Amino acid sequence: MSERLHIPDHNKLFQEDKYVRQRERKREFEAPCSEQEVQETLEYSRSKEYKDKNFARSAVVVNPAKACQPLGAIMAALGFEKTLPFIHGSQGCTAYFRSHLSRHFKEPVPAVSTSMTEDAAVFGGMSNLIDGVENSIALYKPQMIAVCTTCMAEVIGDDLSAFLGNARQAGALPEDMPVPFANTPSFSGSHITGYDVMLRSVLETLFNQSTEVAQSGTSGKVNVLLGFDSYTGNFAGIKRILAMFGADYTILGDHSSNFDSGATGEYTYYYGGTPLAEVPKSANAQGTLALQKFSLRKSLSYMKNTWGQQIVAMSTPLGIVATDDLLDEISRLTGRAVPEMLIQERARVVDAMTDSHAYLHGKRLALVGDPDLLLGLITFCLELGMEPVHIICSNGDAKFKKEAEQLLQVSPYGAEATVHVGQDLWHLRSLLFDDPVDLAIGSSHVKYAAKEAGIPLYEWASRSSTGITCIVIPSSATRER
Ligand code: SF4
Repeated sequence: MSERLHIPDHNKLFQEDKYVRQRERKREFEAPCSEQEVQETLEYSRSKEYKDKNFARSAVVVNPAKACQPLGAIMAALGFEKTLPFIHGSQGCTAYFRSHLSRHFKEPVPAVSTSMTEDAAVFGGMSNLIDGVENSIALYKPQMIAVCTTCMAEVIGDDLSAFLGNARQAGALPEDMPVPFANTPSFSGSHITGYDVMLRSVLETLFNQSTEVAQSGTSGKVNVLLGFDSYTGNFAGIKRILAMFGADYTILGDHSSNFDSGATGEYTYYYGGTPLAEVPKSANAQGTLALQKFSLRKSLSYMKNTWGQQIVAMSTPLGIVATDDLLDEISRLTGRAVPEMLIQERARVVDAMTDSHAYLHGKRLALVGDPDLLLGLITFCLELGMEPVHIICSNGDAKFKKEAEQLLQVSPYGAEATVHVGQDLWHLRSLLFDDPVDLAIGSSHVKYAAKEAGIPLYEWASRSSTGITCIVIPSSATRER
C-alpha cells in the first residue's frame, strides 16, 4: 500500500522555527530595520496622511484589479468551436494567462505561443509565427486559429496581417482556415478590451469568409453575448431562461463548455463553443442581446454598423430591476410573454430579499470589479438596502463613472459612495483604513486588503451553478485565510 503524501500548507510551514530563524539570520544582510521601525511604518501606511500621498501617486500602479489584454482574447477565442488561441509573443506571458485561467476555472486551458526570445525581439517574430501555425495545425488540428499579441511583439511592431499573409503564401496556413487576429498589447486596455477586440475579429473574419448574404432580421433568432464572463453558471442560467421562453437563439462566444468540461476519463483540446457556421448566420438575427456593454463595445458597434443588427446592451443583470429589464427585452425581441414560472421565481427572490433585510440592510461595503459587473452589483446592493462606500474599478473610464454615480444618486443608500476609476487595490487598502466598511465584494485579489482591514471578503462564484441570479458566495472569513 502506498504511503499517504503529506504536503504541508505553506502558510503554516513558514511559521516553523526553522524558517523563522532563517529569516532572522537573513536580515543581517538586508539593511535591517528594527521591529519598532517596521511597526511605525506600518501604522503610518494606515494613516490619513499616507492615504493622501497614496492617492497623489501617478507613475506607479500597485496591484491593479485587472489583467492583460491577451487573457481576454484567449477567453473570446475559446468561445468558438475547435478554436486554438495562438499568442504571438513571449512564452512566459502565455504561461501566466494559462495558469491564471486554469486556477480560476480548474480546467486545462489550451493556448500556444510563438515563444519569441532575444533573436525574435531583434529580427522580428515572423519565422516564429509561420513555424508556429504550421506546427499547431499538425499537432492540435483546429478549425480556427485566433491570434493575439503580447507586449513584446507590439513593442517591436510586428505586423500580424503581413505575417499571416506570408504564412499562407509559404503554405504553412491553408487558404480556407479562418484566422482572426487582434493586437492586444497590455500597456493599454485590460482583459475586457482584449476580449472585445478578439471577439470582433472572430465575427468579422467568419462573416467575411461566408458567401451568404446577410438580410437583417430574417432568421427570427436572437443573438446573445455574455462578454467577459468568468462565471460559467451564467451561461446555464441564460440558456435556461431562453428555453423557458421557447426562444430560438445563438450564443456568440460560448466558452462555458471549455471552462467547465466534465471528467470523462479522456482529454480533448476542445469542448463545445459556438459552431463557426453559426456566426455568419447570426447577421440575419432578429436582434442582439448583450449582457455586458463595456466589454463588448467594438463587437456591438461592428454588429450594428455592418450587420444592421438592433442591439440591446445592458450591464450584468443582477437583482430585481435589472432582471426585469432582461426579461422584458427577451419578451420584446422574441414576441413571447414572460413565462409564468419566471414570474413565480421572481416573487420568491423578492421574498428572500425581504427575509434577509435584517442581516444586509445598512451594511457598508467596498466593491471591486469590472465595469459591467460593478454596475450590476451596485444595482443589486442598493435594492438590498446595502450601502456601497468604496467602489474601485481599475479598468473603468469616465463613462462608467458617470453611469455608476447616476445609479447611486437615485437611492439614499448610495449617498456615501465614491467611485474610483483607474485606481488599484493599494488605493483600496488606504480607503479601508480611512473609512472602514463592514465587508468587501470582489475577486480573490482583494483578500490582502480585506484581511489587513479585518473585514470579510465575498468572492464571485467561479464555476458551474444553476442560474443567472446566483451572485456571490462567501469565502471563509478572510482573517482565517
Ligand atoms: S503585461 Fe505584457 S509582458 Fe506582462 S504578462 Fe501581460 S502581455 Fe506579457
